[in-house]
Amino acid sequence: MKLKLYNSLTRSKAEFKPVQAGEVGLYTCGPTVYNFAHIGNLRTYIFEDILKRVLQYNGYRVKHVMNITDVGHLTGDRDMGEDKMEKGALREGRTAWEIADFYTQAFKSDIKHLNILPPDIWVKATDTIDDQIALIKTLEENDFTYRTGDGIYFDTSRFKDYTKLSHQNLESLQEGARVEKNPEKRNPTDFALWKFSPQGVQRQMEWDSPWGTGFPGWHIECSAMSMKFLGDQLDIHCGGTDHIDVHHTNEIAQSEAATGKKFFNSWMHGAFLIIAGGKKMAKSEGNFLTLENALIKAGIHPLVYRFATFQTHYRKPMEYSDESVQAARNGLMHLQNQVRNIATAGRNPENMISAAHKTGFLEAVNDDLNMPRAMAAVQDLLKSSASDDQKYTTILEFDQVLGLDLDRLDQPEDLPSEVQKLVDARLNARENKQWDASDRLRDEIQDLGYLVQDTPEGMKVIKK
Ligand SMILES: [Zn+2]
Repeated sequence: MKLKLYNSLTRSKAEFKPVQAGEVGLYTCGPTVYNFAHIGNLRTYIFEDILKRVLQYNGYRVKHVMNITDVGHLTGDRDMGEDKMEKGALREGRTAWEIADFYTQAFKSDIKHLNILPPDIWVKATDTIDDQIALIKTLEENDFTYRTGDGIYFDTSRFKDYTKLSHQNLESLQEGARVEKNPEKRNPTDFALWKFSPQGVQRQMEWDSPWGTGFPGWHIECSAMSMKFLGDQLDIHCGGTDHIDVHHTNEIAQSEAATGKKFFNSWMHGAFLIIAGGKKMAKSEGNFLTLENALIKAGIHPLVYRFATFQTHYRKPMEYSDESVQAARNGLMHLQNQVRNIATAGRNPENMISAAHKTGFLEAVNDDLNMPRAMAAVQDLLKSSASDDQKYTTILEFDQVLGLDLDRLDQPEDLPSEVQKLVDARLNARENKQWDASDRLRDEIQDLGYLVQDTPEGMKVIKK
C-alpha cells in the first residue's frame, strides 16, 4: 500500500519515495536545552515518532538523527537578543555546560515517558563545531557570506528561491516592525553563521575560528549534522511549524548554497498546541506546561498525553485543556480495558492477524499519518465479530505504531516495601475518605519514583 505524506515544500500530499530503496534518512530538529520541553514541543516529537513508526511499519529501515542545541540559539530567532544557554545558566546559578547536561537528561526522560523511540544518533551542537566551521568556510568560498561587527552573515539575496519553503513575501517582511534591527545586515532575512564573542567578554561557550573567537549561529548546526550523518540520504526533515519561516528556510539556503544540490526532499511540520481560551504557551509561570507539572504531578500517566494527541491530525492545531486531558484519560482507560478483556485469549502467530482490519488501519496511517482515522480503525477491530485471540494479536500489531504499551497491561509490578507501605496507607486513607492524607501519600509515592493512577479498577502504581 502506498504511503502518502504531506510535504511542506510542495504543499501537497504525495507518495513517499526514499532516495535509497528500503531505507529512510530522517532528521528531526531537537530541543534547545536551556529549560524543560513544554507539552507543545512534545506534541511535535510524538508526531515525529508516529512518522518513524509508520515508516518502519511499512518495512523501511529508518536512520534517525536528532540534534541537541546546546549553543548558539539566541532569544530572537533572527540572531538578536541573548544566548539562551548563558541566560539559563545565569538564571539558575550553574554553568552553561551544566544547564545543557541537566535539560538534555530531562528531555530524554520526557520522551521515554511518552514511548518515543530514541534516535539512532543523538548529536550535540557543541560536538560538531569543526563541521560547522568547515561548512561556513565553503559558504565563504562560494561567496555567500559577509562580515559585520558582530559576526559572519549569510547573504540571503544571493540565494535564489530563498522563500521556496516559507512562501513569504520578502517585500512585505519589514524586519523593524517585528524584530530588533541590526543596521549592518544587508537584508532583513540575512542570518548569522558565526557570532563573535563580545569585546572584553569571555563567554562560557566559545571557540576559535578563522574569523575570530565566538560561537556558531543556530541554523548552521542542523545543516552540518544532517549532511554529516545522513550523507546523501536526505529524505525527511521535521520540526514544528514555527521552524518554517526562519530556521528551516535558512537551513535550506545555506545547505544548497554550499553543495549546489537539493537539501532534503521532504519537509514535514507539526502544528501548534493551543491552550484552551486561546492563550499561547509562555514560559511565564502557570502557563508553561511540562509533562511533570501538567500530568505526572496530577497522577496522570504520560501516555494519556500521547493518546490525547492521536485525536487531532498532526497538521491541525490541537486544543489542550483539563477537560481534553480528562477525556483522553477516560479514552485510554477504556481502550486498556477493552484490550485487557481480550488479552486472556493470548497472542497468536502472524496468520491470526485480521487482514481486513489491518488494511483499514494501514490505509489510515498511510494517509499522511491520519491518527484520528487510525483510532477509529482500532475501534472497528475491537467491536468486530473477529475472535478474541485474533483481535488481541491484531491490536498488538497496531501497537507497533500506537506505542501505548498495550502488551504490558497485565503485569503487576513488585513494589519495594517502602512504596508498598505507602500504597497500603493510601488505600486505607481513601477507604476512610481522608482525601488530604490520600493526596499527601500520593506525592510521597511519586517522590520515590512511582506514578499513582486512580482507575475504576482501583489504584495503580507504576514505576516512572
Ligand atoms: Zn534544526
